[in-house]
Amino acid sequence: MKWTPTVNAALCNGCNRCVEVCDSGTLTLRNGVALVAWPDSCQSDAECVRVCPQQAMRMEWMAMDGDRTRGKWVIGGRAWPGRVRGCRQLRVG
Ligand code: SF4
Repeated sequence: MKWTPTVNAALCNGCNRCVEVCDSGTLTLRNGVALVAWPDSCQSDAECVRVCPQQAMRMEWMAMDGDRTRGKWVIGGRAWPGRVRGCRQLRVG
């Protein structure tokens, strides 16, 4: 499981701050709402969570595969999804 951000779409106002602060290019804006589009590239540094003025982002352990040299990983733990209502997380490209 990887430590990655999730977005509460009901709280997001589309300000783009999270996208701008993310050095790894994990996030994008789609239809005016932040989207975790490329979780593989996430460095798990939670900068996006810190800059969000809406408290729309939080870090979650998400079940996924990928490059384990990037970001924080654990084996086992609590399964995702289920705890964040309105969460938008999608891998594209
Ligand atoms: S910083 Fe917060 S409110 Fe702004 S686009 Fe990102 S998730 Fe939405």
